[in-house]
Amino acid sequence: MVSRVIPVDNFDLVIFGGTGDLARRKILPGLFRRFLAGQMPAESRVIAAARSDFDDAGYRAEIEAAIQEFGGPESKDKKGLEAFLGQLHYVAVDATGDGGWDQLKSLMRDGVVKAFYFSVGPSLFGALAERLHKHKIADRSSRLVVEKPFGRDLETAKELNATLAEHFAEDQIYRIDHYLGKETVQNLMAVRFANVLFEPLWNSHYIDHIQITVAETVGVGGRGGYYDKSGAMRDMVQNHLMQLLCLIAMEAPNQFEADAVRDEKLKVIRALQPVDYHHIVRGQYDATESSPSYREDVENPRTHTESFVAMKCHIANWRWAGVPFYLRTGKRLKARGSEINVVFKDLGHSIFEGDEARHRNVLTIRLQPNEGIDLQVTIKEPGPGGMRLIDVPLDMTFAQALGDEAEDVTDAYERLIMDVIRGNQTLFMRGDEVEAAWSWTDPIIEGWTARGDVPKHYDTGSAGPEDSLMLMHRDGRRWREIKG
Ligand code: NAD
Repeated sequence: MVSRVIPVDNFDLVIFGGTGDLARRKILPGLFRRFLAGQMPAESRVIAAARSDFDDAGYRAEIEAAIQEFGGPESKDKKGLEAFLGQLHYVAVDATGDGGWDQLKSLMRDGVVKAFYFSVGPSLFGALAERLHKHKIADRSSRLVVEKPFGRDLETAKELNATLAEHFAEDQIYRIDHYLGKETVQNLMAVRFANVLFEPLWNSHYIDHIQITVAETVGVGGRGGYYDKSGAMRDMVQNHLMQLLCLIAMEAPNQFEADAVRDEKLKVIRALQPVDYHHIVRGQYDATESSPSYREDVENPRTHTESFVAMKCHIANWRWAGVPFYLRTGKRLKARGSEINVVFKDLGHSIFEGDEARHRNVLTIRLQPNEGIDLQVTIKEPGPGGMRLIDVPLDMTFAQALGDEAEDVTDAYERLIMDVIRGNQTLFMRGDEVEAAWSWTDPIIEGWTARGDVPKHYDTGSAGPEDSLMLMHRDGRRWREIKG
């Protein structure tokens, strides 16, 4: 089955920071795949703008190498790659000075979609927005794409939003959280809102609890300096886990439209109760013989920043009254895996005896690896010997269900960039969502600082600190195993 490619209008996409790590690893390889899929019209152009001195040919050679390194099997398509590179241009621009802006202006065309991707540190957002305005490069129909982090607390997020708002309206701003670009995340909405099966059960009458896990096996790598000022709470919970929580918990929007969806997500964040500090566990990974500890990785022997966090939270509304949401994320864990588990309640009465009565339905939404959704259902174990029950997955893994089409699962970045070109903000965070998320996160972090909280140590390759397991055990529950 060949997936449908919906064409987009001609565009000029300017990537500030077009020589940076994100542009080389994700944005340009993603655009190349969209080009091969026929989604980048021949008249469209990608204009990289950054500090280094390149001409078009020099920049194209850089990106050719980047696509060969990060572009996957498609990068073998030499003719395709050459044609794509022909649509790339480069201009050296100083974000904080005047150099290069006239040249950039002279390159821009009227009558095409104009998008500006800020793939630079947030300290440059204000300067870029101001210069785009001052040099009349952007207009009311232009779009801005901004990368995380959106501040490090409510105050800085508000400042950032205010800076962008000086020259651009909210309907022009696309705040990227690449988790929202994942196929499964969107499928979660399809499963919830396009099937009669789930929505009637999607509440505190039938759901016992929900778990959201984002587990990594890697440490902080080369990002130690940044990460140590941030920690798992700011780096993962405030954005990615919170967004997943919103999509799982939100009411059905009245239509699948950007503001309708984002209004419902915002209501979830606003209904989140403050978290009791007894219900949060923070951790830091220890060294092994072959890998350094968190403290060694960030070169800060006295740091109290967390590389792991687990917590229990509650949403104060009718649908979710009394249903705990358990969130956990961490680095150097035993397997890499991101998934949401919706654990349904026991039957009110079981006709089966003993252990056979203790089976539960679990809906698992896997973001990585093997994106897919499966529903654990209970059946009779085949064969003679009486009524023994087993749990089996009703597997909705896309690769099986959709064959070739699933192999074309578009990377989150490329999907989101195409949404920008189409002017569809549904999968981007609105400013008020970001601020509401910080309003909930800030008191938790401030509480740690005020109490002098020290993270628990955990073994590299484990499931995190013991206390995280206890968080569940105390409630008579357990984490689903991180399988990877
Ligand atoms: P990077 O340091 O690799 O690249 C920075 C880019 O900005 C370079 O192209 C550089 O030339 C340009 N730049 C810096 N100062 C400039 C100036 N004064 N004028 C013009 N250009 C200037 O950074 P990165 O890793 O690509 O990250 C870019 C943004 O994306 C950051 O906000 C980062 O937080 C965010 N982000 C990155 C990743 C990732 O995987 N790298 C993931 C998520 C978010």
